[in-house]
Amino acid sequence: MNRDSGKNVFTKPELTVEDLSIALYQTNLKLAETNRRLIESEKKRSELLANISHDLRSPITTLHGYVEYLLSFEQPDEYEVFLTLNQMLGKLHSLDHLLNEMLLITSLDYPDDKFALRPIPIGGYLTDFFNSCKADKKYAQRGLLLKLPDNCPHYVVINPEMFARVLDNLFTNALKYSTQNDKIILEACLKGTDVIISVTDTGIGIDHKDLRRIFERTYMVSDSRTPGSGEGCGLGLSIAASIMGRHDGQIWCESTLGKGSTFYLSLPLYVPD
Ligand code: ADP
Repeated sequence: MNRDSGKNVFTKPELTVEDLSIALYQTNLKLAETNRRLIESEKKRSELLANISHDLRSPITTLHGYVEYLLSFEQPDEYEVFLTLNQMLGKLHSLDHLLNEMLLITSLDYPDDKFALRPIPIGGYLTDFFNSCKADKKYAQRGLLLKLPDNCPHYVVINPEMFARVLDNLFTNALKYSTQNDKIILEACLKGTDVIISVTDTGIGIDHKDLRRIFERTYMVSDSRTPGSGEGCGLGLSIAASIMGRHDGQIWCESTLGKGSTFYLSLPLYVPD
């Protein structure tokens, strides 16, 4: 656009065939890349659906079995009924848990305004979280430790409820994959312009080949190594990774099989204007 004696004069851009070919070629490249991403995300979505259908089918089949078992009696023994109903209740709880995780995953995929972030003093926040774990009797047989820098004055911008889900997942896993008298340590430190929070356990650790994949949706390391750990659905760490993404943060893990694991969370330090 030229400004000539106060008038706006539009001049036609001089485009050669070569210019147009280059522009077309670049647009084609972008289109191919978008297409590749679409196919990839569609593939992931189908895989997720298949895994979820499989995970849903297993408790439903078990519940079906329990009901048939109860119906097979003409006059079931009261104690037998009580035991079976309790087992059914356990399965219903895991179904409920699985459905909640799936709902959360779906909502994290679609950004909305409800994911409200606000500045929080990380020292006080981690201390409150740690104290609530200390008070929880499920952690009674683990040595819980909190290590914070002196009077830790740093602020981070988080959604406190969502961030607590990440910490809770890491603590629950640390508990699940460790045994009596093992330690679970919550730490925080400042590194450059990031706050690094870590959860370390002295439990069974994770094999190198699995380490790359544990943040994938529904990826689970074989249950055979941990009897009783089979109630997970492999969604926890992928949800944690999505939540960290919504905080402009990151999550990663270092682990040695047989010695334990450390999960790290990084968050940008909040500096008020
Ligand atoms: P799940 O709900 O099955 O525990 P997660 O996504 O939370 O799923 O974890 C994925 C896998 O990573 C689990 O199957 C588990 O084997 C492994 N894992 C996670 N945390 C730990 C840990 N602290 N120690 C050892 N293995 C772990």
